[in-house]
Amino acid sequence: MIKMNFHVMTLFPGLIDNAMGESITGRAIKAGHISVNAVNIRDFAGNRSGSVDDYPYGGGAGMVMKAEPVYMCYKHICGQIQERNQGTAEGGKLPVRVVYLTPQGRTFCQKLAEEYAGEEDIIFLCGHYEGIDERVIEEIVTDYVSIGDYVLTGGELPALVMMDAISRLVPGVLNNCISAQTESFSGSLLEYPQYTRPEHWRDRSVPPVLLSGNHRKLAEWYREQSVIRTALMRPDLLENAELTQEERKLADSINNKKN
Ligand code: SAM
Repeated sequence: MIKMNFHVMTLFPGLIDNAMGESITGRAIKAGHISVNAVNIRDFAGNRSGSVDDYPYGGGAGMVMKAEPVYMCYKHICGQIQERNQGTAEGGKLPVRVVYLTPQGRTFCQKLAEEYAGEEDIIFLCGHYEGIDERVIEEIVTDYVSIGDYVLTGGELPALVMMDAISRLVPGVLNNCISAQTESFSGSLLEYPQYTRPEHWRDRSVPPVLLSGNHRKLAEWYREQSVIRTALMRPDLLENAELTQEERKLADSINNKKN
């Protein structure tokens, strides 16, 4: 059974389908762990030319996406979800969370990805040009999410970033479910460094503990390296990390050396 259904309202469905169809997400779609339904807002333009934008009231640069095509696209997706759920226990459960990708939103992070991974359906709304008529945003959007403090040309890349991060948390998508649990941000620490064959590369060797086969020592090394790495790269994360006294000392000594 598909565990996560992504729906994307976009002017560029090919961008979404092509990117999600590759690599791990592509395999997850084939295996039925996730589904991606990219719907072209232009199909709901309601005019022959397929035009979905117009000049902003009050003047100013650029064009604004019109409310009605976005609204009709949303209603279409709601109909699809309801139809799929008919006869199930949910009986067409609505409303589904509608995420508007916008630089004005809350910044996306691993915690938010974990929250969304618990949903069955998510609808993403990708803006373009100067954005979307505010009235339809007020009507349908439940969440406002940004992927960082910079402005992109459209919401497709942010939607892809979010879908990628959420997909990895859907059961079955990663072969190795431990990997999502030990990765950076899953706790308050960054992940330890990784090595693969050969054992010696140029004048650098793999840390001997990784070849020891001693699981207790390995676990200690992973933990210590995570503390060191976090202190070096993202000391801000350590404020909320649960560290032993020794680990806190280690982190402080690294920070003092840096300063
Ligand atoms: N005029 C808008 C403003 O200043 O807030 C920016 C519009 S931007 C050029 C066009 C679209 O790209 C937005 O509607 C949004 O969907 C998307 N977008 C741009 N930057 C983004 C970001 N950092 N995070 C999420 N979406 C973004």
